[in-house]
Amino acid sequence: MTSKPKILLIYTGGTIGMVKDYETNALKAFNFEQLLERVPELVQLNCTVDTYSFKEPIDSSNMNTTYYVDIAEVIEDNYLDFDGFVVLTGSDTMAYTSSVVGFMFENLAKPVIFTGSQLPIGHLRTDAKENLITSIEIACSRKNNQPVVSEVCLYFEYKLYRANRTTKINAEQFEAFASLNYPPLAESGVHLQFNYELLLKPPPIATKFMVRKSLNNNIVILKLFPGITEEVVKSIVGIKNLKGIVLETYGAGNAPTYKWFVVILEAAIKSGIHIVNVTQCVGGSVILGHYETSVELQRIGVIDGKDITTESAIAKLMYLLGAKISNSEFKNTFEKPLRGELDF
Ligand code: ASP
Repeated sequence: MTSKPKILLIYTGGTIGMVKDYETNALKAFNFEQLLERVPELVQLNCTVDTYSFKEPIDSSNMNTTYYVDIAEVIEDNYLDFDGFVVLTGSDTMAYTSSVVGFMFENLAKPVIFTGSQLPIGHLRTDAKENLITSIEIACSRKNNQPVVSEVCLYFEYKLYRANRTTKINAEQFEAFASLNYPPLAESGVHLQFNYELLLKPPPIATKFMVRKSLNNNIVILKLFPGITEEVVKSIVGIKNLKGIVLETYGAGNAPTYKWFVVILEAAIKSGIHIVNVTQCVGGSVILGHYETSVELQRIGVIDGKDITTESAIAKLMYLLGAKISNSEFKNTFEKPLRGELDF
């Protein structure tokens, strides 16, 4: 490629494009055109940047499966015309959004970089400019005439992460995200340093980019706490049409050994509900069967979430349930990495 890389900047909402409503004192989304006016530096980048904005930008707390499909479709519709994509969303649920969109993309061969900011772009001390400019730089990075990145990533505060490995860990500091079970794919200092060996390999040239748009959100997160009652577990498992549970357990995947607890979960699995064991710890992995307190979970057929994040487990459940994987294949499919989201 000799011409300048073409990047599509997609704005969905979030703090990065927010202004203060002086009547209510609350931050609210504003017109995307003004975002570009705020960053005249963009014209200095060695690429061309086109923009697309949600008609009504949203706070990421309002993200849902319909918006996930909207984001994926914008990229699908423009896939052949652009060399890379930067998606601006609110940071609050960015780890979820970027994980789901990542699962929806099969044979992705171009960079898709999610970013946002803790302070609005118009704020004097904003982190938005660096996040935005470096994300665009990453999206247009090439080596041997190929994109350096061919996966869905999240860039925030000088670090590029695999999106489905991230968690928002701080509502105050600029370093809002962590990826405790997978190292950064790149770090931005004086130079932009990629950790090439950590990046996903591009798909074979003959494969076609596909977007899977069927997502199922009949799922729930059940976070254990000491003293959780039978009534609570029973009513969660009994939710009508429930198809999947992300069970947030203690430490290396441990749960109470009370008979009632195991009986309820076993009946749920037998009725076709998929239960994924994920640790409540921000780092580390489930090791099923390591302690007596997880042996029963293993016996009844709970899915081993290994070192997947809760956000990514939710995303993978939505995607695999939407893909209508058969009950007999579901556990096996979930336990294998599809987009680098867990260690095998
Ligand atoms: N509440 C905002 C959002 O997630 C926060 C942010 O943009 O970082 O949309």
